[in-house]
Amino acid sequence: MKSESEDITDEDITENIKESIQGTEIDFEPDDSEILKLNTVRKTLYKLYSEKLAQFRRIRDKSTGWFIYYWWHEFDLIEEILQEKKSLIEGKLRDRLQFEQNNYFFICKNCQESIIKYNFDEAFELNFRCPNCGSPLEAQDNQDIIIFLRNRIALVQNVKISID
Ligand SMILES: [Zn+2]
Repeated sequence: MKSESEDITDEDITENIKESIQGTEIDFEPDDSEILKLNTVRKTLYKLYSEKLAQFRRIRDKSTGWFIYYWWHEFDLIEEILQEKKSLIEGKLRDRLQFEQNNYFFICKNCQESIIKYNFDEAFELNFRCPNCGSPLEAQDNQDIIIFLRNRIALVQNVKISID
């Protein structure tokens, strides 16, 4: 996809940035005499790497025995990555919605101090009657959560991801 000549070491990236901001007010290290540290660039590169927006290959320097890292960006993947994240969030919300819809509990409002919750199967077994006092078991209201989750899902679905 990219020719190897386009790969660049973290040291060269640092030097290039320093050169391009020379004579400007830009200072990436306000607490330090340097305007940009190699370490800051490395940290940023690893952050991009962990988000799959940068890649590297490393080569051992035969004279020093140290690794040299050659980096390149994968910014053309950004749309795909964001789409992936969007699906992931939507999936989690849907799972939670399903959980809320399938797992509502039944309680006896007459003996609430007992705080016994019955799931649907248990309530069904009990004929929806409290085994303690015989009052009807009522579904505990989780409509608010369900509505909240539905709104969230609609919101996520409406997010348009396109980078032009
Ligand atoms: Zn009861």
